[in-house]
Amino acid sequence: MRVRLKDCAWERFGDDLILVHDPREALTLADPDGIVRALLESLSAAPATVDELTARLRGRGLDLASEDVRQGLQGLDSLGLVEKADEQWLGDSGLDERHFSNLTFFGTYSSLERSRADFVRKLRDAHVLVLGVGGGGSSLVQCLAGFGVGRLTLVDRDDVERRNFARQFLYRHADLGRSKVERAAEWVRDYDPDIEVRAVDRWISGPEDLADLMDGVDVVAGGLDGEHDIHLVVNAAIMRAGVPLVCGGMGRTQVMYCSVDPGVSPCLLCDESDQPSPTEQTSAGIARRLSSGLELNNALIAPIAMQVGSLIAYETLRYLTGFEQPMAAGQRVILDLRTGLTTQATPFPRDPHCPACALAPER
Ligand SMILES: [Zn+2]
Repeated sequence: MRVRLKDCAWERFGDDLILVHDPREALTLADPDGIVRALLESLSAAPATVDELTARLRGRGLDLASEDVRQGLQGLDSLGLVEKADEQWLGDSGLDERHFSNLTFFGTYSSLERSRADFVRKLRDAHVLVLGVGGGGSSLVQCLAGFGVGRLTLVDRDDVERRNFARQFLYRHADLGRSKVERAAEWVRDYDPDIEVRAVDRWISGPEDLADLMDGVDVVAGGLDGEHDIHLVVNAAIMRAGVPLVCGGMGRTQVMYCSVDPGVSPCLLCDESDQPSPTEQTSAGIARRLSSGLELNNALIAPIAMQVGSLIAYETLRYLTGFEQPMAAGQRVILDLRTGLTTQATPFPRDPHCPACALAPER
């Protein structure tokens, strides 16, 4: 395997090297005998195998065995500074250009074990079931298409209305009255013909409406309007199928997202376990009954809707590629634009007797 040094810069400071690859974090590497610097300089000239690199270092007068060089590279790998040279790109000039930003993004997370191309191929092999293509779902679909997720199934039962235009940018005036999922699927096909997209124009009211859609799905993402307990219907379906769910919502200036990792995190039904019952004669019980009966006029403007779509998309990316751990598994994360995007995370209570968690397959 040929090893490539990622873009970085370094400077000697006493016995140390100060090295910057990711501008968010400078590294200090002990290098009293100058070997690390020689290794970096030799590798920065061009990608190399262990043997080629050993020869280059010997050429500089350093008497190193290839095992020493291998260990040196492992050290650089543990710091995220090297990657597989031959899989920096996908190897098709059209695809490399299309995925230039994605490949570059994953360059922060690539290693000798996992190349940039591995991350993008993982996305191309993935299947995401998107629930709802309205406020948040509209930008979620666009983000997932941008990642190049290979298969998308879009579910919704609304038609395009004039009042959607303030925040749902998949739709145009010419689409008025058309099925939203049909138009959203058409947008995806126009955007990237390599993405396989299926439109399911269906009202979801019970678990049977989702049963035939879960096969081969890697993540369920989005949120549905409609029946009061629809989130629990979705929760039961994903728990039974063992498929992670990333969902979210909006209220006035707040955006909220959360995720459920079946068999790992508490679920949305666990989260209900410490809520006051709407029939409870306490101030919290009465407040819950009043808010569930409240007809909320949709006051959601574009920045809020796009924010929730992008947060759901980013958490979905964590599940699909594992580039980092899910941030909202088993907790409700709320960001408020009114207070400059302050963030508050509230973990779900874990209900040991939760009937939905009992459905999750062993993982
Ligand atoms: Zn549960």
